[in-house]
Amino acid sequence: KMLSIKKISKSFGSLQALHGVSFDVDEGEILAILGPSGCGKSTLLAIIAGLEHPDLGDVYWGGKSLASTPPHLREFGLMFQDFALFPHMNVYANIAFGLKMAHMDRLSIDHRVQEMLSIVGLPDFSNRDVNTLSGGEQQRIALARALAPHPRLLMLDEPLGSLDRNLRERLVADLQKILQQVNQTAIYVTHDQEEAFAIADSIVLMNSGKVEQIGTPKEIYNYPASIFVARFLEMTNILPAIITNQEGEKIALTDFGKFSIQSPVTGQVKLLIRPEMARLDDAGPVKIKGHYTGVSFRGSRQRISMKVGSFDLTFDFPSVTTLPVIGSELTVSINPDTAIRIFPA
Ligand code: ATP
Repeated sequence: KMLSIKKISKSFGSLQALHGVSFDVDEGEILAILGPSGCGKSTLLAIIAGLEHPDLGDVYWGGKSLASTPPHLREFGLMFQDFALFPHMNVYANIAFGLKMAHMDRLSIDHRVQEMLSIVGLPDFSNRDVNTLSGGEQQRIALARALAPHPRLLMLDEPLGSLDRNLRERLVADLQKILQQVNQTAIYVTHDQEEAFAIADSIVLMNSGKVEQIGTPKEIYNYPASIFVARFLEMTNILPAIITNQEGEKIALTDFGKFSIQSPVTGQVKLLIRPEMARLDDAGPVKIKGHYTGVSFRGSRQRISMKVGSFDLTFDFPSVTTLPVIGSELTVSINPDTAIRIFPA
C-alpha cells in the first residue's frame, strides 16, 4: 500500500469531525471519499495534505509516517473545485508554474508542458489565454497543471463541482482515462455518488466523521453495509420486519406477507428491497401487492412507485415494459434471497 491512513481522529472544539478513520490506497488506485456535506471529507484531505494535524492517528507513505513532513515536501498535488487557473497567465505558464517553482530547467519545462497538453488532449493550447477556455477545457488544463510536477498522490476535491451535469458526466470518464493512463495514485473527494461510482476503483463511504463502508463500487452497491449506505445510494425500499426461527427455518413477517428467507439474525430488523430485483408479475416466490402510483423515466429504465400498506416502494423495469393505469392494483414479485438485504433495526 502506498498511502495508509491509520485511526485518524480530529476535533474542532467540542465537535469531533473525524472518529478513527482508516483506509489504504494502492499505487495507481483511484479511491473516492464519498459522503454527505459535513461528514469530514475536507478535514480528512487537509490532514493527508499536512495542512491540518490529527489529534490521534497518522498518515503513512510507503510505511513511513508523514507526521514530521510539511505539506510542500509530501509531493502531493491538489486540484480543487473552481480549478483556479491563474487568469493573468496563458495555458503554458499555468502548467509550467509548479515546474518553475521546483527549479526545473527551461527545456525540460517546455517538454513536460507539451507532454501534459497531449495527455489531456489539448496539444495546441499552449498559447491560449485561459479566460477564453470552455469549462471543460479549463478543467483539463487544471488537471495538466496538477499532474505536471509528477505528484506521487493527486487529491481532487469536488473537481467537477462547479460544472453542469452533462459536462460532468463526460469529464468524469475523461478524467478517469487520463489518471489511469499515467498510473496516477489519486484520492477523489465528492458528495455525488454517481461521480464516485463512475471514477473510483474503491470507495470510502463516510458518515459523521466515521467510515461506514469501504469497497469497490460493485461491492458497495450490491452489499450496502448499513441502512445509511443504502439510503445514501437512493435505495429507499426500507421496511421493518420480524424474523422468527421456526424449526430451523427463518420466517420473515412483513407488511406484504410472511415468507421463508435466509437470515443470520432473528428479531426486529429492517429489510431493504432492491429496486431492480423485482418482476412485474406474480411469478416470483414472494408477491408484493399494492397500488401503482406513478413512474419516472431514467433512460432505458423506468422507476415505478407503488403504495404497499403505508409504505411507498419503488421498482425499476426496462422502459419498454407496459405499465397499468395509475391508481390500479399492482402485484410485483421477488425472490427474497436475492432481492432482500437484512439490517439490524
Ligand atoms: P462539505 O462536503 O460540505 O465540504 P465535508 O464533508 O468536507 O463537507 P468538513 O469540511 O470536513 O466536511 O467538516 C466536517 C465538520 O467539521 C463540519 O461539521 C464542520 O463544520 C467542522 N469543521 C471543519 N473545519 C472546521 C474548523 N476549522 N473549525 C471548526 N469546525 C470545523
